[in-house]
Amino acid sequence: MELIDTHCHIYAEEFDADREVLTEEAKASGIGRLLLPNIDLESIAAMHAFCDTHPGFAYPMMGLHPTSVGREYATALAQIESWLPKRPYCAIGEIGMDLYWDKSFLKEQKEVFEEQLRWSIDLDLPVAIHTRDAFPEVFDSLHKVGVERLKGVFHCFTGTPEELEEILSMKRFKIGIGGVITFKKSVLAETIASTPLSAILLETDAPYLAPAPYRGKRNCPAYIWETARKVAGTFGIPLEEIVRITRENALELFRF
Ligand SMILES: [Zn+2]
Repeated sequence: MELIDTHCHIYAEEFDADREVLTEEAKASGIGRLLLPNIDLESIAAMHAFCDTHPGFAYPMMGLHPTSVGREYATALAQIESWLPKRPYCAIGEIGMDLYWDKSFLKEQKEVFEEQLRWSIDLDLPVAIHTRDAFPEVFDSLHKVGVERLKGVFHCFTGTPEELEEILSMKRFKIGIGGVITFKKSVLAETIASTPLSAILLETDAPYLAPAPYRGKRNCPAYIWETARKVAGTFGIPLEEIVRITRENALELFRF
């Protein structure tokens, strides 16, 4: 059994004290790969350093996170782009739109998102999409840039049945299921229950969104097993099956 955590910020400073211990725990638990989405210019060095010390286990993405789009976005974006030819990336990410915290850079967020979507087409890489209070805007950009040439994942999906339907109608997009599905009041399990298994990926988004019974605490890669168990139960299949299927889905989508 090899479980793939398709979205994990193990390089974040929250893990500075025990990153290697947690990595060993993750490996021992059966996690075979971690995919690391970038955030901004500050996170790049730590992300690369972790991947360099864990070849064959940790795979970086490159992209500018929507909440990091501010006044200096053009400079940041140019520097992010300059990394793309320098080393292999498994995806462009994480990118998207976030209108939950702040709408003042809506126009810039959209421009940055669409530019990075175009990179993914040019490089034939998938995209890891972060969307919060911005589904209509994100769908609009995907269609504008060319949905038939794009592929990727809506990471940490927590949307409505209608939004799920729209994602699945785009054919080459999957949904990343994280710890939220284990929360008591979450309706996510109901929402995804009839989704084709070929569209499901597992993720932690560590250090954020720890699953029950760790909710509210720092999330760690090994906690992904709580999510995996819940997803297996949702679909009424054995744990080994969901691990195998989501692994195959990840191998098909991302570039390794
Ligand atoms: Zn993330």
